[in-house]
Amino acid sequence: CGIVGYIGTQTAVTILVSGLERLEYRGYDSAGIATVLEGEIHCVRAKGKLYNLREKIEQDINPANIGIGHTRWATHGKPEEHNAHPHRDMSGRVAVVQNGIIENHQALREELIAKGYKFQSETDTEVIPHLIADLMKQDNDDDGLLIAVREAVHRLEGAFAIAVICADYPDEIIVARQQAPLVIGFGQGEFFCASDVTALVPHTNAVLAMENGEIARLTPLGVELYNFAGKRLKKMPRTLDWNP
Ligand code: GLU
Repeated sequence: CGIVGYIGTQTAVTILVSGLERLEYRGYDSAGIATVLEGEIHCVRAKGKLYNLREKIEQDINPANIGIGHTRWATHGKPEEHNAHPHRDMSGRVAVVQNGIIENHQALREELIAKGYKFQSETDTEVIPHLIADLMKQDNDDDGLLIAVREAVHRLEGAFAIAVICADYPDEIIVARQQAPLVIGFGQGEFFCASDVTALVPHTNAVLAMENGEIARLTPLGVELYNFAGKRLKKMPRTLDWNP
């Protein structure tokens, strides 16, 4: 029910967990984070309250500077750890968090299973990392992840916001919005995404609210915004009236 993402120079896990705490008021039944460190995705998930997640993370704290986090309010699949986000593809190299519902998940799941993909959860969300992994096989250049996510969102029906990281693209987070809220926060050499501005308040007051049908790439150097057709959009963040 809540998404956060961080890319920059600080320790991502700390920012992700405190961001999720600021989104707790939205309600949730489980939580998780994923980071990219030394070419691998590290994923930690826990059922129940955020302190369960925090306890697990403290056993395995890592200095990654990029990551995504999620608090889940289960719609498809019981509130159990294996259904908590982030969800990964079979190689474990793509990790996805999703807010909302993928209405055509059953058809996509059947299509992916027929192609040999194996599922580890009962969620609607897990189709997304498999779909991205499937589409990435064709595009392995600098824009490979961006293009694969863009092609994947074309296949998704429903109201959703997603954030994606990939071990092969350790300097980017791809986010997309379709009928579920997502904002981007602009810092100095660091960028954030979140379901709402509450999570960004301690860090920045420069915020861009994404619109439906928009996809963005966050890197330590900046934010590139596109529409789902792939056209680059030029938009400036707004400065909101609080002091971070
Ligand atoms: N429909 C997704 C799930 O059940 C996401 C729910 C949410 O927005 O937290 O996993």
